[in-house]
Amino acid sequence: MPPPTSPFGSLLLRRPPLRASAMSTQVAVAAAVAGIGAYAFYRRSASTETAGKPIFSTFGFHSLKLHSSELINHNTKKLRFELPDPSQPSGLSLTSALLTISFPNGGWKPCIRPYTPTNSRDEPGFIELMVKLYPNGRQSTHLHSLKPGDKVTFAPIKELAWTPNKHPHVALIAGGAGITPMYQLASGILSNPDDQTRVTLVWGVNTDEDIFLGEQFSALEKKFPGRFKAVYVVATPDAGSPHQKGFVTKKVLEGAGLSATDEKNSGAQVLVCGPPPMEKALKGTKSLFGAAKGGVLAELGYRSDQIYSF
Ligand SMILES: Cc1cc2nc3c(=O)[nH]c(=O)nc-3n(C[C@H](O)[C@H](O)[C@H](O)COP(=O)(O)OP(=O)(O)OC[C@H]3O[C@@H](n4cnc5c(N)ncnc54)[C@H](O)[C@@H]3O)c2cc1C
Repeated sequence: MPPPTSPFGSLLLRRPPLRASAMSTQVAVAAAVAGIGAYAFYRRSASTETAGKPIFSTFGFHSLKLHSSELINHNTKKLRFELPDPSQPSGLSLTSALLTISFPNGGWKPCIRPYTPTNSRDEPGFIELMVKLYPNGRQSTHLHSLKPGDKVTFAPIKELAWTPNKHPHVALIAGGAGITPMYQLASGILSNPDDQTRVTLVWGVNTDEDIFLGEQFSALEKKFPGRFKAVYVVATPDAGSPHQKGFVTKKVLEGAGLSATDEKNSGAQVLVCGPPPMEKALKGTKSLFGAAKGGVLAELGYRSDQIYSF
């Protein structure tokens, strides 16, 4: 699907680093809504905050102040924003993203891009984003330039609505910055004592340095042995890297225990979020009538209704 355009012409809502057909239906709809509403709401949103209710439990635009900005690897910053009521969590559902709306360099043309909060949905007072910097990227450059006290306007968008225990096992297959929705989901599942879903993550990155959130995933592996496993695949690993070299292939997924023919994986759900070549290799190509043809996941025995792309 071509990226959606907005009333602002070149205002595109897209995820070029992760997926060419990046737009889920919700995102495309949100883009249209946001395109129309963003400009009007932006100027007055800072003065319309009300305390007492999680602000992102319903759709609306909210201007939040940057609390801190920290470089966590060679190209990714952790940005923490203050919610208007320090006693309330964000109100985001599992899984959700936030549209960011800004006017880079003080220009008139708004820039709208989605990002996936990675802090606990129960944490009061803050939302946290991990933002990878792309050369000449409009929004990522703008977000990386912000100083504490600066403001950004946000609106929530729903992604896959997660139902605890609906699937015995969920396989999360990510490439590069596509890890953030996977982290949100894995930590959301594992922090819910009523959800017993097993989770396997396979994450393909270019270099060892690209692995952010690695400590958090290790902590989850230690806390939930037998329920959570993370496998990293590095295209150009450092000498002595503990991770396997290469790309996310059929062999790698089989090695991670993700064959659909394995009885443990009956009824499993597979979630994919990565750059277009990776998604195409995994999911195959779409025929004229929308049915998927080929792809590593089909070869492993997964049906298309078991596969969801963020
Ligand atoms: C639901 C959803 C959630 C997302 N969550 C996150 C998140 O948590 N963290 C995160 O960092 N991103 C996330 N993204 C991606 C994010 O929305 C932006 O697409 C990304 O930050 C780039 O936007 P930009 O404005 O900086 O770049 P753009 O201005 O859109 O692109 C600038 C230029 O850089 C090029 N470019 C961009 N990336 C690459 C690349 N990898 N290689 C070569 N050229 C490139 C573009 O083609 C373009 O020419 C998410 C996307 C979606 C759809």
